[in-house]
Amino acid sequence: MKSVCKGCGHSFESNGEKFCNNTCRDSHIDKLEEMVIEAVKNDSSHTKKFSQDF
Ligand SMILES: [Zn+2]
Repeated sequence: MKSVCKGCGHSFESNGEKFCNNTCRDSHIDKLEEMVIEAVKNDSSHTKKFSQDF
């Protein structure tokens, strides 16, 4: 089954995988983790600012 890699965007022959290879999967997971870390950072700074304003 043809599928589009969620990492690099290339189409590849998939058996249910979302990535064409492990490198794409790993880099995608790294990106997601960075986004989560950034979101948590922003969250805590908002919370701090909010409590200071109070
Ligand atoms: Zn890929």
